[in-house]
Amino acid sequence: MGHSNKNKVVTTVKGKCRVCYTCVRECPVKAIKIIDGQAEVLSERCIGCGNCVSVCSQNAKVAIDLKENVMSLLGNSERKVVALLAPSFPAEFTEIEDYRKVVGMIRKLGFDKVQEVSFGADLVSHKYKKLIEKSGENNYISSDCPAIVYYVEHYHPSMVDRLAPVASPMVATSRLARHIYGDDVYTVFIGPCIAKKAESDEVDEGLTFAELRELFEEYSITPENTEPSEFDPPRSGMGALFPLSRGLLQNVKKSDNVVEGNIIVDSGKHNFMEAIKEMERGEIAGYHLELLCCNGCIMGPGMTNRENFYFKWSQISKYVKMKLQDLDVEQWRKDVERYGELIDVSQTFSPMDRREDIPEKEKVEKVLKEMGKHSEADHLNCGACGYDTCNDHAVAIVQGYAEDEMCLPYTIEKLHGSIQELNNTNETLRNTKMELKHSEKLANMGQISAGIAHELNNPLGVITMYSNILLDELPEDDEKRVDAELIVKQAERCKKIVSGLLNFARKNRIKVQELDIVDFLNNSLSSIVIPGNVKITVDSALDDPWTMIDPDQMLQVFTNLYKNAIEAMPDGGELKISVDGNDNKVVIRLSDTGCGIPDEHKDKLFTPFFTTKDVGKGTGLGLPLIYGIIKMHSGKIRVESNADPVAGPTGTEFIITLPRII
Ligand code: ADP
Ligand code: MG
Repeated sequence: MGHSNKNKVVTTVKGKCRVCYTCVRECPVKAIKIIDGQAEVLSERCIGCGNCVSVCSQNAKVAIDLKENVMSLLGNSERKVVALLAPSFPAEFTEIEDYRKVVGMIRKLGFDKVQEVSFGADLVSHKYKKLIEKSGENNYISSDCPAIVYYVEHYHPSMVDRLAPVASPMVATSRLARHIYGDDVYTVFIGPCIAKKAESDEVDEGLTFAELRELFEEYSITPENTEPSEFDPPRSGMGALFPLSRGLLQNVKKSDNVVEGNIIVDSGKHNFMEAIKEMERGEIAGYHLELLCCNGCIMGPGMTNRENFYFKWSQISKYVKMKLQDLDVEQWRKDVERYGELIDVSQTFSPMDRREDIPEKEKVEKVLKEMGKHSEADHLNCGACGYDTCNDHAVAIVQGYAEDEMCLPYTIEKLHGSIQELNNTNETLRNTKMELKHSEKLANMGQISAGIAHELNNPLGVITMYSNILLDELPEDDEKRVDAELIVKQAERCKKIVSGLLNFARKNRIKVQELDIVDFLNNSLSSIVIPGNVKITVDSALDDPWTMIDPDQMLQVFTNLYKNAIEAMPDGGELKISVDGNDNKVVIRLSDTGCGIPDEHKDKLFTPFFTTKDVGKGTGLGLPLIYGIIKMHSGKIRVESNADPVAGPTGTEFIITLPRII
């Protein structure tokens, strides 16, 4: 681009970007890099088209603001300042009926002269006409749109010599102004274009219509408080049609009809790139390209007016019709001829290759795989990332311009994974919390139980001893013996309960030894009476059955569990004992086909005295004892059971996990 200090025609407003990737999608040259979740314009790749400025709903991309520079030029009393007003102005100021009001308002800002850039267009099209007439084998790309020129210079350097060696209407008008008013005048372009701000060193500053309106507002300049004023001569003719996408062609055609049929006219970001690529491949030999980056300058990003294309088009058309009615055609022809001779409107361009190396295929493949795109079928090419294809996106990732998170299907997939993980973590957390609450409760109960049991133990001993003495001393036929026997029996029972409580709460050491857990389980079955209608089996999937346990205490655990299972299957059934595990732990499952345990009982099971059995039959101390012993082995016990009132019971499974080494 021309001005070195204005290279950054588009800047990024930090923090405003909401990463919708619309700018990536709309940027013809992908001059956008996603950095820390923000889309930033890379000035060294940018062609200044301003598409990103137009499409960003968050105003995170803005054109460089040159209002202050312009005001300081206007403040210089020594030198004249000439406004070069773009021919698209009638499409911007649609609310002002008399165009001369716009000219007046510009003068009011302090401009000494206001020139029609459309006269520059008249001069330029004269030159184009001659160029095309004499082109012979040469086919040209029009060079009036700066974004197109940058595009060719940066991305198709081999095509630079195809750019028509003609200045843009803006530059031509600036040369005209310096010719008429002297070399030391300042020239300021005012138009719909952002790229123009940096097009040429020959123009001092460039304002957009948006900035012009801001200045009007700042200095309270309105059509109502402004006198109409005419443009400074020379007045333009057909050049006023220039901003329409067929402008130049129409210009050339109207003045002379010879070139009809060998100019391809197109506009818009996809079309212009395609046309240049086709020309580069030699597919459209014999044709000149008349290209505009925007859909005609009237759709330029520096317009505030967001009306539709055809409305704007009609505004220009109307303006030109009116203009041509009043045009002194003789004078115009003379002016074009005269200034056409006096002013050199030629221009040279030079290549500035900014193409990126295409990354190695393997690297791109790797990135694609990382995004879950393993085959062609996984390439959705949905465009959500802003790139046309998954491959383009992967290339940009390798080049460091894009991130994998821009891929919507991939991100959604990843999110699903995270949600699942989070759910799992939540579930584990919930379970752990419940377990913790439960063991806290049991620990409290253990302390109380131990206290009570300890206090009761001594008086109970005394009662037992004295009731036995009493019984001994009573003669065989004494009728009080029955009472004394009852006291002895009940006192014994109390002692049993108390010792059960002590077991639950005990802090005794365990005496572990390494033994074959499967053997142990098989042997343990001989300590209980198994009814004929109950079948008990032991099954092991363990490679290594050696486990450290306290056999005496573990025997209590299993005999209690067997008894419970048998009592839960009064009509018979099966108790399956299966052993499994890994290097670190042994898992023993005891699964019966009994009555099952209703949900509301499940968290009371390990509480002392919880029983569903008849008085005298159950004490509710079995499972608390088991719990205590398993804890001392640093193990875990949990229960899974179903006592579905509708489907009926499906039995109970106690699952014990023991570490191999304590
Ligand atoms: P008790 O056997 O003295 O009732 P436990 O602490 O051994 O005391 O068991 C408590 C309660 O747990 C039992 O009353 C019973 O309701 C329930 N229970 C334990 N094991 C089973 C099982 N295998 N099937 C169904 N219910 C069981
Ligand atoms: Mg029991």
